[in-house]
Amino acid sequence: MLSLVQSDIHRVGEVWLVGAGPGDPELISVRGLRLIREADVLVYDRLVSPQLLEEARDDAVMLDVGKRPGFHRVPQHEIEALLVKHARRGCKVVRLKGGDPFIFGRGGEEMLTLRAAGIPVHVVPGITAAAACAAASGFPLTQRKVADSVCLTTAHHSDDGDDTDWASLAADPQRTLVFYMGLSSLQRIQKNLGSHGMSPDTPAALIENGSYAHQRTITCKLKEIEQMAKQHNLQTPCLLVVGKVITLAQQARAAVEQASHQVSRSKMALGRNVAAAMMLTTAPALAGAADSDSVAEALAQGSTSISFRARSEQVDDDALPRDAVANTLRTRLTYRSGSWQSLSLLVEVDNVSYLGDDSFNNTRNGMIMRPVIVDPDGTDLNQAALRLERDRLTVTAGRQRLLRENQRMIGGVGWRQNEQTYDAIDVAYKPAEQVQLNYAWVDDTQRIFGPESGVPAASLDSDHHILNARWTVSPAIDVAAYHIALDFDDAAALSSATTGLIVSGAFDARENLRLDYRAEVAQQTDAANNPASFDVNYHHAGLGLTHAGWRIGWAHESLGADSSAGVAMQTPLATLHAFQGWADKFLTTPTAGMRDNQFSVSGVVAGFALQLHHHDYQADVSGLDYGKEWNIQLGRAIGPRYTLTAKYARYTAEQFARDTSKFWLMAEARF
Ligand code: SAH
Repeated sequence: MLSLVQSDIHRVGEVWLVGAGPGDPELISVRGLRLIREADVLVYDRLVSPQLLEEARDDAVMLDVGKRPGFHRVPQHEIEALLVKHARRGCKVVRLKGGDPFIFGRGGEEMLTLRAAGIPVHVVPGITAAAACAAASGFPLTQRKVADSVCLTTAHHSDDGDDTDWASLAADPQRTLVFYMGLSSLQRIQKNLGSHGMSPDTPAALIENGSYAHQRTITCKLKEIEQMAKQHNLQTPCLLVVGKVITLAQQARAAVEQASHQVSRSKMALGRNVAAAMMLTTAPALAGAADSDSVAEALAQGSTSISFRARSEQVDDDALPRDAVANTLRTRLTYRSGSWQSLSLLVEVDNVSYLGDDSFNNTRNGMIMRPVIVDPDGTDLNQAALRLERDRLTVTAGRQRLLRENQRMIGGVGWRQNEQTYDAIDVAYKPAEQVQLNYAWVDDTQRIFGPESGVPAASLDSDHHILNARWTVSPAIDVAAYHIALDFDDAAALSSATTGLIVSGAFDARENLRLDYRAEVAQQTDAANNPASFDVNYHHAGLGLTHAGWRIGWAHESLGADSSAGVAMQTPLATLHAFQGWADKFLTTPTAGMRDNQFSVSGVVAGFALQLHHHDYQADVSGLDYGKEWNIQLGRAIGPRYTLTAKYARYTAEQFARDTSKFWLMAEARF
């Protein structure tokens, strides 16, 4: 029998539409795998695991027709033409698609075109994302008395507008709804299901990279889906599931844990893996259920990850006689424990090493003839913190990352190899669904200049109080306020008090046209031990328009100066690299203050995420021309683990600093 089936593919000129499953390469069918191994031509999509592609014959023709959101790399009619062309040449063509070819996979269209062209076509089903994500997150899609039907749907906009029957989707509380391609439409889904009568408290789950080792499942309520996706920065592929079945994950977890106590050690390891995968669930309702019985068990249930970031950075600054080249590798090891009594532990160690000689000023090696690249080498404890999570309250104590708002005031300087973290106590409290309050007390600021001591200081003794409040009035209006009291024992000139207000949001101005806006005002005065007396203002205004995956943006930022005190607004804890250009010419605000007028374009070109920025700088009080700057970045994710980035900055001086250009190449891997 088997030989008969196998001989099928040896007939000339046929196409097999094969479902590759959701991502985990083991979730393809036996037949699908055999066909990959036999194919003359393999035409595959973005969501197909690279490990499956490695199974193809060495001489097979491999055609990547992967699509990225908002940018169809190869139009559907061209894919179909490709299939017809290769089949007509007598090839055995395997068209490999993520999940199942007939579920939101356009397999139907390909089948009809091939049939119309007289080409034999066969379909090999695959495990669709809905089934895989539910399985890997621990809830069933149907369950007696809870859900007696399941609906696979998509909220993806068609060009002809929204013809979704929301009333029927919202009508049946016993039906599980699964939304494919929903990540960019969460707000619409939330709004429409709600306005058609579905309870805003209906359980929901967002599953990113379902079935992969790095899957993330976020459970929440229908009314929170958009906010959760933003908060956790969820990326495609991501599936949304709405329905009561999701609460069953909690019961499943309890069962897994109970079972793991009763079975042999090897089976217990399996139970632990399941529990660890579920631990990623962040819903308050499930957080308690994840608790282990003992500290030892919580530690054993922890997960460890490792990441590498190799970077080459080159700087040519006309102010210095020589150029700088830094080839660095950062290795980061992160351990997160399971939870016991709602407590969990995070430990993260970073090592920065040089690949070859260092020919740059790393602020410690005395190479003052060359530009500074603040990537000193060494090993340090980047984070080590205990976290308590109870209902609406999260308290984190120890060395930790503090990222507030857009990191203009408080950030982690994530671009540098040695991150800025804080020895702090951070209290986050959510008194109501749309309100988030944060208070952090910082005892020590661990800066990017460490771990070796020197000048600038590796760490700064601090006594900072950082208060943030955020109220999401609606998806289109978000109001945030902050008060930041910085007190540096050994850097008195940086001690200040800043109070600010931000209003931001985004909405669909028209079908296929999204508008985002942001306005921020702040006032900074001297504080604590600062010997100066000053009062300066900060303004930021931004607008963006997004259409078909492309965003154009304008922003204006000003950091004021107090002429009588000779002081300008400073934000010493900011992620400064993200502001006023990547050439980093204004890390210290010039005493006449700063204005930055910025235009930007971003989108996807040939599979690469592109960002282009232009800055025009000026002093705030004297009107001096501070020059202009171009920034460009191209980035590409290769599968879920690898990222490549190329980046270039060109600063052209006028009445401040000297011409500077910087170039970066970076490769990242996460395991
Ligand atoms: N034919 C595929 C679906 C293709 S549509 C299937 O049957 O699964 C692409 C959408 O599927 C994505 O936008 C996402 O919503 C969903 N998806 C595919 N793989 C996924 C995965 N591993 N995890 C989460 N969602 C996934």
